[in-house]
Amino acid sequence: MRKINEIFYSLQGEGFHTGMPALFIRFSGCNLKCPFCDTPHETGTWMSDEEIMRRVAECPAQTVILTGGEPSLWISDEFIDQLHNLGKYVCIETNGTRPIPTSIDWVTCSPKGAPVVLERIDEVKVVFTGEDVEPYASLPARYHYLQPCSCQNTQAVVDYILEHPFWRLSLQTHKYIQIQ
Ligand code: SF4
Repeated sequence: MRKINEIFYSLQGEGFHTGMPALFIRFSGCNLKCPFCDTPHETGTWMSDEEIMRRVAECPAQTVILTGGEPSLWISDEFIDQLHNLGKYVCIETNGTRPIPTSIDWVTCSPKGAPVVLERIDEVKVVFTGEDVEPYASLPARYHYLQPCSCQNTQAVVDYILEHPFWRLSLQTHKYIQIQ
């Protein structure tokens, strides 16, 4: 059994895969307590893998995004295998503080000040809160994004990127178009 906050079908709003339809599996709970956390992930329902995979199989999209909270608290190699057996492309959004199955297809790491233990990252997505983000530039990833904090400081992020063009802008587009 795994504790699930919600499962929903929508478009990825942020980062490299912005605009891509995907089934989101939001796991309950997190090992960090960020002051700016805007995801009400704490509640949850216990679901069997059979129930979860039934929802996954019903979804027409090829992509499944494991998110939270912190999804690494709940997943295993065997869980990823089940998703792959349904023909799904498996993405994860993690704070990077815990190991994850190596078979996951796309790894988005949003570091939150705690040490990152991941050896493979596809995109780093840093919420810009005014703290020094340059330590995250050295994380071994293909893409490095800065994202406004809850859509509040977009101009500050734009200004920072123009001065530090190593970074790219990620917007929470789902909030602008008011979808989940
Ligand atoms: S790591 Fe993410 S989900 Fe966890 S408390 Fe911080 S912002 Fe919230």
